[in-house]
Amino acid sequence: MHGSHQVEKRLSLDIEAVRSCFPALEGKARGKPLVYLDNGATTQKPLCVIEAIRRLYHEGYGNVHRGVHDLSERTTQQFENARVQIAAFLNARDAREIVFVRGATEAINLVAHSYVEPRLEEGDAVLVTEMEHHSNIVPWQLVCERKGAELLVVPVRENGELDADSFRSALSDRVKFCSIAHVSNVLGTVNPIKHLVALCHEAGIPVLVDGAQAAPRMRVDVQEIGADFYAISGHKMYGPTGIGVLYGKYERLAEMIPYQGGGDMITEVRWSGSKFQAPPHRFEAGTPNIAGAIGLAAAVEYLESLGMDAVESHERDVVEYGAKLLRGMPRVRLIGDPLERAGAISFVIEGVHPHDAAALLDAEGIAVRAGHHCAQPLMERYGVPATVRASVGLYNTRSEMDALAHGLRRVLEVFP
Ligand code: PLP
Repeated sequence: MHGSHQVEKRLSLDIEAVRSCFPALEGKARGKPLVYLDNGATTQKPLCVIEAIRRLYHEGYGNVHRGVHDLSERTTQQFENARVQIAAFLNARDAREIVFVRGATEAINLVAHSYVEPRLEEGDAVLVTEMEHHSNIVPWQLVCERKGAELLVVPVRENGELDADSFRSALSDRVKFCSIAHVSNVLGTVNPIKHLVALCHEAGIPVLVDGAQAAPRMRVDVQEIGADFYAISGHKMYGPTGIGVLYGKYERLAEMIPYQGGGDMITEVRWSGSKFQAPPHRFEAGTPNIAGAIGLAAAVEYLESLGMDAVESHERDVVEYGAKLLRGMPRVRLIGDPLERAGAISFVIEGVHPHDAAALLDAEGIAVRAGHHCAQPLMERYGVPATVRASVGLYNTRSEMDALAHGLRRVLEVFP
C-alpha cells in the first residue's frame, strides 16, 4: 500500500504547492501576472535555496578548509556535505568526483585546459555537434587553435536530431575527444546520450557531456551514462548563480594537470616548485563559492524531494502541450521538432522579428527569450538570425502555454 502510494506521488507534481515555493512567481511583470518561460537561460529560486544561503550568512560563516575555529569547521562541513549531496544526486561513485566550478562554462574550459590540451597534437581532432552552446564550442576552438588540431562538427537534421550516421562515421582515429550536449538549449532535443557515449568509448574516445539543460529536468545517472565528464550549471537548476559542477571519473581527474593556481589546491609550496592536492581540490584554487555550493545542495535536495521522474513527466506534458499549440498556429514555424524534447521550444514567426515578438509578449507579462541563444552556428544551420524560445521549468503549467499562444495571437494581429 505504502509503496504504491509513493510511486504515484513521485510521478506527479502538486503544482500549486510547487509554485508557492517560488516567491518570484507571485510577482508581476509589466504590471501583469508573470508567465516565466525563460528557464533555459536561468531559473527562479525556491524558498529553501534562499533560506539556505540566508542561514549560512546569518548563523555564522567562515572560510573553508582553513581555520580550526568553530565557524570555519562548520562551514567546511556544510561545503563538503554539499559535495556529497550533489554526488548522490548525479549518482557519482565518489564525492571526490565532484569539482565545484563557476558554471557549466568553466567546467568545459577546465577539461579543455587540463585534460584535452596536454593530450592533443597537431593534426588531431575534437568532435562536437552542430547544436552546441557557445560554451561547448569556443573552448574547443581555442584549444584546437593552440595545438594545430581541427574541430569537427556532427550535423543536425532538419527535425533537430543529430545525424546518427554522421556521428558514427566521424569517430575516426584522429578524434581524441568528444563533447556533446545532453539536451539542446535551443531545440530541446534530448540526445541518446548513453548510446553516443558508448559509440565514442568503442572508438577509444573520451567524452564530456554538457548537461546544463538536462540536470534541471531529468534524472541524470553519470554511472549509467558512462561519460568521462559531465558538466552542470547551478543557476539553471534552481540553485544560485556562479556555481556549477564538473563531474569527472576519478581516474580521469587524477591524471589531469591543475587548472588555476592558488591557495587550497596545493599540499606544499616552495620556491623550487609546488605540490598539488588530489582531486577535486586540485581544481578548486582560491576561496570557492561557498554559499553557491550550499545553495546548490539545497536546490538538489528540493529536486529530490519532488522526484526527478515527476519533474520530467510534468515538464514533458507542458512542453509537448505547448509545442502542439504552436504547431497549430498560422505563420509560426518550429525550429527543429525532435521526437524526444525537453525544456525548450524555438520558433520563428513569418513577417515578425523575434525581438519584436518577445517585446510584445513581454508587454503581456510573458518572459521568453529572443536571439541566437548562444548558438550562432545552429542559427546558421537553420538559416535564421534568431528565434523566439519558450523554455519551461518544473513550475510551469499548461495554462501558461495557453497564455503564450494567446500572446502570440496578439503578435500576429499587430503584424498582420
Ligand atoms: N551549455 C548549455 C547547453 C547551456 O544552455 C548553457 C547556458 O545557457 C551553458 C552551457 C553555460 O552554462 P553556465 O551559465 O553555467 O556557464
